[in-house]
Amino acid sequence: MSDKFRCILITKSESGQTAAITELHDSDLAEGDVTVGVTHSTLNYKDGLAITGAAPVVRKFPLIAGIDFAGYVLCSADERFLPGDAVVANGWGMGETHHGGYATRARVKGEWLVPLPRTFGPSEAMAIGTAGYTSMLAVMKLEDLGLTPDKGPILVTGAAGGVGSVAIAILSKLGYRVIAATGRMNEGAYLRGLGATDVIDRAELSGDVRPLAKERWAGAIDSVGSKTLANVLAATSYGGVVAACGLAQGMDLPTFVAPFILRGVTLAGIDSVQCPRPRRVQAWERLARDLDLAKFGPAITTARLSDVLTLAPQILKGQVRGRVVVNVGT
Ligand code: NDP
Repeated sequence: MSDKFRCILITKSESGQTAAITELHDSDLAEGDVTVGVTHSTLNYKDGLAITGAAPVVRKFPLIAGIDFAGYVLCSADERFLPGDAVVANGWGMGETHHGGYATRARVKGEWLVPLPRTFGPSEAMAIGTAGYTSMLAVMKLEDLGLTPDKGPILVTGAAGGVGSVAIAILSKLGYRVIAATGRMNEGAYLRGLGATDVIDRAELSGDVRPLAKERWAGAIDSVGSKTLANVLAATSYGGVVAACGLAQGMDLPTFVAPFILRGVTLAGIDSVQCPRPRRVQAWERLARDLDLAKFGPAITTARLSDVLTLAPQILKGQVRGRVVVNVGT
């Protein structure tokens, strides 16, 4: 086997950072006890930030981009893994401080790897990707905090994006009534196809915030943050739960304490990057059970490694629908 592999490398010079396809050698791989032949990665919002340099996601240069990957173990010093095992890895600083998944080869700690459930191949795992795995972490958090389908509808913001699309598909399969909030009202048929029962314009939620509003949902999965999250909280019904995953509108949260102290609303944070391994394994097992990938088919597009360079600015502008699977070998 050649010791060369292809990747997207981010370098930094005085004029700024640059992302380009390049070829490296095994001696360039990162520290770790398992080497993986990566077959697929995906495109996440954070990858868009890293590749364009729009936010300081990459903190070590030069660095292979990509916050997740799936593939097959090539060699392992970790007894939990054997050559040929199908694995998935998300977060843990990959594509930030450790070489990431936009490469045909990666070396990581065995602790970072989750065995793929038999239901999925690496391509399906990356159709789910960090966005989908985060959606499942959010669903599990809502369940931990007592939410059940009989309590009322669940709102999903950023609905046509990666986290939102998978969240809708999971929640609808679990029997929830799902309200999808989107800025792309022309994607109504797509969102209903995933299982949304109602589709609302995100403009309803992105404006000025009042301490409380009419109770509209028992819970929410929010990937938007800022005023949207504040308005979501204000309209969450008594005892409801909101899982905050993202910041597509902004990092701020201009809210009031009213939803918490007058309606007992819980705001729960979701982090996929440092999430402990047992919870990850559980999330991937739940995805195998509770996500109907067949229904999810229209949400998936495929791309080559080089396409990532053009798709990165598009995901930041909210122009990428659903999930993009990157065939890293092409
Ligand atoms: P996408 O870009 O695929 O989806 C984000 C969606 O948010 C867009 O599709 C759009 O949905 C909506 N949106 C975009 N801009 C705005 C805006 N200005 N105001 C309101 N809505 C907006 O990204 P992902 O789904 O991959 O990620 C979503 C968020 O979750 C990101 O902020 C990401 O960083 C975060 N994230 C966090 C993780 C964690 O561990 N906590 C893990 C993964 C992602 P529509 O067109 O339907 O309105």
